[in-house]
Formats: sequence, C-alpha cells, structure tokens
Amino acid sequence: MPLFPNADLHSHSTHSDGALAPAEVAALAQAGGVDLWALTDHDTLAGQALAREAALDLGLAWVGGVEISVSFLTETIHVLGLGVDVADATLDAGLAHLRAGRVARAQAMGQSLARAGIRGAFEGAAALAPNLPSISRTHFARWLVQTGHAPSVGEVFHHYLRSGKPGYVPHTWATLGAAVGWIRRAGGVAVIAHPGRYRLGLSGENALLAAFTDLGGAGIEVVCGSHSPAEVQLAAQQARTWGLAASRGSDFHAPDESRVLPGMLAALPPQLTPVWQRAPLAQAVACARA
Ligand code: AMP
Ligand code: MN
Ligand code: MN
Ligand code: MN
Repeated sequence: MPLFPNADLHSHSTHSDGALAPAEVAALAQAGGVDLWALTDHDTLAGQALAREAALDLGLAWVGGVEISVSFLTETIHVLGLGVDVADATLDAGLAHLRAGRVARAQAMGQSLARAGIRGAFEGAAALAPNLPSISRTHFARWLVQTGHAPSVGEVFHHYLRSGKPGYVPHTWATLGAAVGWIRRAGGVAVIAHPGRYRLGLSGENALLAAFTDLGGAGIEVVCGSHSPAEVQLAAQQARTWGLAASRGSDFHAPDESRVLPGMLAALPPQLTPVWQRAPLAQAVACARA
C-alpha cells in the first residue's frame, strides 16, 4: 500500500541555499509523490508566498515552513518551524535580525580563505547567491567546487568550511528560546532538524532535548536526507523518550547535491507520533486526503 501522507517537511530554494526556485521544488515534490510539503529556507520566509502559490497550482498540500539557525553550547543547531503563519511579524523580524549577520560573516570567510591562499571567494560565492542577505557556506562550497579546489560540496565542508578549517568563521545565531518562541507564537510546531548531525556528546544532547521540550518544542526530525539508518533509529528512540512527534524531510537543496529527491524517503519507524498528526499540520493532511 502506498504511504500516506508522503510528507516532505524540509526543503530549500534559491531564497536560501537551494539551487531551484520554490515552484521548481514544488514540482519535484509532486513528481516524487509528496502529498504534504513544506519549503523550509534558512532564516527567511521570502519564498513562502511563491511556495504556497505553486503548491496550490499543483494541488499539493502545503504548510508554511522555516529552518532557524540556533547557537546551543558549542554547536549550531537547526530548528524547523512547521505550519507557521508566514505573515507573522514577530517571526519575520526575528529572522531579519538573524540574516543581518550573514554578509559580514561571508566577507570574513573570504578574508580567511585569502589568508589560506584562496582569493576571490567572497565575490565568487556572492555571485552564486541569488539573494545576497541569505548568503551561506553552501554558496562558498559551490564556488570552491567550480574553481577546482575540491571535487564535491561535501569535500569542501570537510576541508575548508567546518570548525577549525580555513574558511570557518564562528557565528552567533539565535538562542534556542528565541527560535522556539517565534515559531510557537506564529502558530507553528518547533522541530529539531537532523539531530544526527550534531556533535554535542550525550550530556549535551540531553541538555538540548531537555531545554527544547521545556520551551515547548514538540518535534524531532527522524527520517531525513542526511541520516544513516542507525541515526534514524537513534532519533526515533529520542522521540519516544522525550515525547516528541516525529518528522520526515529530504532537506533537498539541489538535484546534484542531495542524497534524496523530495519524497524519496523511508517511512517513519513504528511507535512514533507523526508531526503531521499535530495541529496545524493535521488540517493540511485532511485537505490532501479530501
Ligand atoms: P550556514 O547556515 O551558512 O552555516 O550554512 C549551513 C549549510 O551548509 C547547511 O544548511 C547545509 O546546507 C550546508 N552544509 C553543512 N554541512 C555540510 C556538509 N558536511 N556537506 C554538505 N553541506 C553541508
Ligand atoms: Mn542548507
Ligand atoms: Mn539544516
Ligand atoms: Mn535544511
């Protein structure tokens, strides 16, 4: 029996570090059999109106989405806001404040790479960022691949853009409390994105999950494009232990960069409450079923 809903609640467009416009991501989602879709650009709602319009044209159920960058202990954590009101002024203002630091950080990354002998990285990355205020490490990664410094985006992160590498510039993002607060006040569900990616250690992970649930965070991404099967099982266990709803999303960025295309993901493991059974996502699923 086909999976229903085939929910893909994590994807990116040219409004952050994705390579395709919102309507193109929507079309790929529909081609991948997605029934419930969210575009979750980093720290911006700029693509949401186009995403909603494209979804409507395609008959695809859609909820508002965003992926917020958060500094927690020594790590950058990503928190998804699903089902948010995309016209919420407080959320929009908070995100605008977060984005304000991106260009200055990118300039510092360019200077740091120049000291390592790679010149012109800021200008190169900026030329690849259709929305300069949303410039990200991904744009640097693409430029470094195009100029032959590394064979793939993944390799660039490994050699240049991770903490301790020449292109890495530390940055302070939102607090966990601010991010969860903006999402909840905008009517959305806060979900910890790709928990398998963080290197917090066991006590740091528990501190994150305790703080997140205390703040009213309600979900965790269990099945996602960057999780190995073991990471899926670990996230599922964390969801059960902490009473969090489980989410599913490809984290699609570009056809030639993403491990999975929208919708092409495994089903959630058993004994989990899917995040799409929670308001306001449940309403969108009911529309998709009708
Ligand atoms: P930023 O928000 O500018 O720090 O950029 C973070 C983005 O870089 C993430 O959203 C991913 O799209 C991308 N990214 C981070 N680590 C990796 C990695 N190891 N391989 C590929 N992309 C990565
Ligand atoms: Mn990204
Ligand atoms: Mn992320
Ligand atoms: Mn993402």
